[in-house]
Amino acid sequence: MMSGNHTPVIRILDQSTVDKIAAGEVVERPASVVKELLENAIDAGARSIRIDLSASDGKIATIRITDDGCGMSPQDATLAFVPHATSKIAGIKDLDTIRTLGFRGEALASIAAVSHVTLITKPKGSGVVAGTKIVIAGGTLKEQAEIGAPEGTSILVEDLFFNTPARKKFLKSINTELAQIHTIMEGVCFSHPECSFHLFYNNHEQMVTDRTTRPLDTIARLFGADTVKHLIPVDAVYPFMTITGYISQPSLTRKDTARMLIIINGRFISSPIVNGALKTGYGTLLPKDRSPVAFLSLQIDCGLVDVNVHPTKKILRLSKEKEIADAVRKAVSDALLNHDLIPAAEAPVQAPVSLSVATDIQPVYTYPLCETASSGVSEFTHAGTIDSDQRLRQTDLTTGLPALPSRLPSIEVIGEFGGIYILGRTDTDVLVIIDQHAAHERILYEQVLLRLKGEHHSQELIWPVILHRTPKDTSILQELIPALTQEGFILEDFGRDSFIVRAIPVVLGRMENAGIIDEIISDLVHDASTTSVNNRERITRIIACRGAIKAGTVCTKEQCQRIVNQLRLTQNPYTCPHGRPTIIRFSRAELDTMFKRI
Ligand code: ADP
Ligand code: MG
Repeated sequence: MMSGNHTPVIRILDQSTVDKIAAGEVVERPASVVKELLENAIDAGARSIRIDLSASDGKIATIRITDDGCGMSPQDATLAFVPHATSKIAGIKDLDTIRTLGFRGEALASIAAVSHVTLITKPKGSGVVAGTKIVIAGGTLKEQAEIGAPEGTSILVEDLFFNTPARKKFLKSINTELAQIHTIMEGVCFSHPECSFHLFYNNHEQMVTDRTTRPLDTIARLFGADTVKHLIPVDAVYPFMTITGYISQPSLTRKDTARMLIIINGRFISSPIVNGALKTGYGTLLPKDRSPVAFLSLQIDCGLVDVNVHPTKKILRLSKEKEIADAVRKAVSDALLNHDLIPAAEAPVQAPVSLSVATDIQPVYTYPLCETASSGVSEFTHAGTIDSDQRLRQTDLTTGLPALPSRLPSIEVIGEFGGIYILGRTDTDVLVIIDQHAAHERILYEQVLLRLKGEHHSQELIWPVILHRTPKDTSILQELIPALTQEGFILEDFGRDSFIVRAIPVVLGRMENAGIIDEIISDLVHDASTTSVNNRERITRIIACRGAIKAGTVCTKEQCQRIVNQLRLTQNPYTCPHGRPTIIRFSRAELDTMFKRI
């Protein structure tokens, strides 16, 4: 390419190419158009916004957004399409105190560069009769005229990407694009309950929210009353931020994070930091690989938030990231601690009629009675060889958990079922069913954690146990020896792929069967690579699981009562360490509904 006579190879691009390239950043797909136009309408102070979509040939053909906001004068209406033209900031320092959603002055210019746009607008309260109509195609002004119009603004976008074929080719199926639009709509509706939204698709009403001061109404409209039933409020104030909104009880979780809606200073954004902190706030209440449902609004000091990091403003940069994450985690765990979390059994109901056309492939998950949450540790259903009474007595012999007021009501055991479930009656006459293994696991788990703080958490074995492993297991195990020692397992490398176990955690009781040690070590070695928690947490969970009484072991009434009493002493009696529920309640009213007495 480089020739001897140095003909310049660099050229300056013409404006139309520059505009199309710039547009690519802001207008990625139809949903980006919807997002930008909705934000403009909200910034214009609209109280009611209508979105009309139409499709043809399996693609979104037209997008029209109509608002009753402030409208534009004829001069502003033309200026609005010039790149970097905005009414929202005058200079960069205004970004520190920005209250509007827009500020870049790029959206209308970008949209008009890659489509046909028709704008009709009339300023609010101006008293004039005529409004302004402007038609722009591919960035070129085609028409400007006076037209009779209501106050507010209506923007019609047609032939999106007609002049950028590469982008057009990558448009996904109509359902995918609609799903994207729905996601945007959910976030915008939730973040602006003071505005009503009406979405029509091919003239059919798809989504409606009313103007309200209560965000919960909007959530109910968008996600159904069933979701709202499972929500608990979050309300926390910190020196530099406030957190308000709702999170789901642990009985309502999803495979994905699609129902974790986060708003920061009025902006619907995606924030892995906030999402992560939110999940951490649940601790062991959440099954592995599940996400809660959450609708949180964070008001953070403007100075700590940089909104200008992404063309579509979907991502923000936060200063004091760690403090913000800690605050979210604490707000969530406090909200959960202050709430009765025993999940109610659900009577079979008809599936609610969904408002969305978008294919929701990941249905909301509520605990079925017999579902096993995925966990790093498999559950047993055969009767254990270890004497169950010894295991249970061991639980009683503890130094005792701190005597906090119990989070469970007092429960009288009235029977057991299948060696798996304990049936009980609370002092308020509610029927509860308790998973015996999960409950005992929770008890042991908290005891192990507590003991870790104390001194005598290890007991020497009278007869040391020798374990033989495969060479592969040996190398994994060798690395785990220090962590195991910390938890009370004293283990030495005995050479030739064998290990000698000299002491075990006290919580496992007087060991009469070396089998359980072998099980614990096998679990540890086998899920070493697949788990997301640290070694200490993993070892604690495995000890609790293997030490706990197994499902299928029939317990006497006294033994069952002992488990229930111990469960009442735990800090989190609602789930086992893997997040499965330990207890479910059936009120009289719920039973009556199930039996159709009412
Ligand atoms: P930005 O929103 O970043 O200012 P846009 O390109 O989205 O940039 O819009 C440019 C300007 O056009 C806005 O600053 C606003 O003054 C005006 N505008 C856009 N949409 C509307 C609307 N729906 N109602 C009133 N004014 C609008
Ligand atoms: Mg804008």
